[in-house]
Amino acid sequence: MHCRACRDERGEIVLDLGEQPPWDRMPWAGTPLPDPASPLRMWLCRACGLAQLETDACAVEELPGVEPRAVAEQSDRAVGRLAREGLVRPGGTVAEFGSPHGESWLSRLTGRGMRDVDPAARGAAGRADLVVDFYGLLHEPDQESALRRRVELLAPGGTLALQLLPLGTVLRDGQWYDLRHGHYAYWSLPALDTALRRHGLGVHRAWWYPLSGGTLLVTAREGAEPDADTRRLLAEEDELGVTDPGGLARLQAAADGAHDLRTWLEAERAAGRTVAGYGAASRAVPLVCRAGMRADLLAAVGDASPAKQGRRMPGTDVPIVSPAELVSLRPDRVVLFLPDLASEVRAALPEVEADGGRWVTLDPCPRLLTPEHSMSTG
Ligand SMILES: [Zn+2]
Repeated sequence: MHCRACRDERGEIVLDLGEQPPWDRMPWAGTPLPDPASPLRMWLCRACGLAQLETDACAVEELPGVEPRAVAEQSDRAVGRLAREGLVRPGGTVAEFGSPHGESWLSRLTGRGMRDVDPAARGAAGRADLVVDFYGLLHEPDQESALRRRVELLAPGGTLALQLLPLGTVLRDGQWYDLRHGHYAYWSLPALDTALRRHGLGVHRAWWYPLSGGTLLVTAREGAEPDADTRRLLAEEDELGVTDPGGLARLQAAADGAHDLRTWLEAERAAGRTVAGYGAASRAVPLVCRAGMRADLLAAVGDASPAKQGRRMPGTDVPIVSPAELVSLRPDRVVLFLPDLASEVRAALPEVEADGGRWVTLDPCPRLLTPEHSMSTG
């Protein structure tokens, strides 16, 4: 094992989820089990502090997901923030490294008059005043060359802007299921600053947003001097132990608690209640697999993406159905695998609560959401 960023060989496994199927290959419902699986482990580089995926799994198929409204609203806020910082201006140039899941800021940026440059163009024509990375970096197996490509695209005095779910959020909230095949790097702000400084940049500003429990918008530039708020965010992650094996051990403990979910599901079944899930998202796959869920415990997972309907969750026989089919099951409990979707999905599927069902979030233990009376009273 070499670090994907600094190439150092010193490090250790800090989270081991055992054999896990690739989350992005959702088999058709009729495909027989078992699904191929490979070890899913997080390795922490002792030299640079980057937490990363230990092995490359052959992730091939990216099923388009439905972008939660909360993600789109965050994109509006992030682009607005960059504009207030003077980084988005008519006539300025922008290059984007977007997510293979299809999310992009480009239309928001060109809509404000920025010009999209072709990264393949040579010389100054291929450089940009603003290089944005919107969940692109984590999908790159070779982090060092990925960072170099982004830095090389910067015009003199340019700014690199990234939105990321920092490891500090994952750790603080015990989001062990954020570890996924095909997601190669789990950046914390301190580790990112260390890596950027190898490329002559540094973290300049960082802003915290509540999306996914704590999302960062980060800007980096040459000669960066972080302000007090940014230094505080750096210090907070340091205090959480994001670059320390002892700190990250809490993630393993949270993952080992997945059997609590299974125990809860068994109790619900024993009580005669039907439980379904919502959101056949990447983070749901290790949750479903690690808890050993089967269709007799979790009847189905609803998802609004037509590309996923008719398939099943990897590693189990739990089918993925449309929101309408989910409602027709009249579930007593619906476990929300994507907490960011909570208000949107509850508003879109009032039938669930109208039929006496309850939405359940995992924090990380199952917690029933109080029915929203405000929705019926307007
Ligand atoms: Zn390293």
